[in-house]
Amino acid sequence: MKLVKSANKLTNYLNNLQTEDKSVQIGFVPTMGALHAGHMRLIDQSVRENDITVCSIFVNPTQFGDASDLANYPKPIESDIKQLIHHNCDILFLPEIKEVYPQEYHQQHFNLDGIDLIIEGAQRPGHFQGVCNVLSRLFFIVQPNRAYFGQKDYQQTLVVKKLIRLLNLPIEISIVPIAREENGLAMSSRNQRLSKEARKNASFINHTLLSIKEEWKLIGLEQAIENSKNYISRFPGVKLEYLLAVDGNTLLAVDKNSTSIVILIVVKLEGVRLLDNIILA
Ligand code: AMP
Repeated sequence: MKLVKSANKLTNYLNNLQTEDKSVQIGFVPTMGALHAGHMRLIDQSVRENDITVCSIFVNPTQFGDASDLANYPKPIESDIKQLIHHNCDILFLPEIKEVYPQEYHQQHFNLDGIDLIIEGAQRPGHFQGVCNVLSRLFFIVQPNRAYFGQKDYQQTLVVKKLIRLLNLPIEISIVPIAREENGLAMSSRNQRLSKEARKNASFINHTLLSIKEEWKLIGLEQAIENSKNYISRFPGVKLEYLLAVDGNTLLAVDKNSTSIVILIVVKLEGVRLLDNIILA
């Protein structure tokens, strides 16, 4: 695997490859590192579908509202590199901040029709604008044919698709299903911050999503959500931030025109925010 730190070098290298052979397809997996088997699903799919897979590891400061969350973000780079090599990633892009945001760069505002302001966006003001800024820079640097994102960050997948349309970029977006630990907890770099006990107990998040999927057609969405809220309230030390049934395309309330329904959940456990979701229809 090639390790590249310079944005210009990466762009030139990839441009040359595609000039020499126009059929070369480039897949791109943007990450913030602390890689786990969930990230590797994205890498594996990219390796299968492209000639060259580029993974970036960049902890983007502009998408963090909370300075201590940014400072505490884990950075196990050696383990990350090992996994990427093991999964046949071709290039790791590991830039410093100035490579992604040169001194002349001003953070931009992207008009996402408000999808960045609701749900996660309301909890984390500016987060999705930060995501769009970093992705627009990374897309410009890598110029991939395809880019891979996890369903785990459901709202982010809609934001990315909107960004692609807004900038009219010729990049195909692939959404990869959620990888889970054995007990059903969605894999996340943040899981490491949980105690052993909490990590085990956190299986209730997936259980509650599965029971909504099982029940909702029989008892209705509202009742299924209510039952889950009651179920969750029985777990000590758990703070439910939200449990919502939303239209899978707009993230607004489900109505009779909704062609897709998604349940979104965030709970806080030992101070760690755990996100999960399930697609019902
Ligand atoms: P992050 O490093 O947290 O920014 O994640 C990088 C990419 O990996 C994002 O597209 C995430 O949605 C995706 N991802 C993270 N965890 C999982 C998971 N458990 N299953 C599938 N994709 C994931």
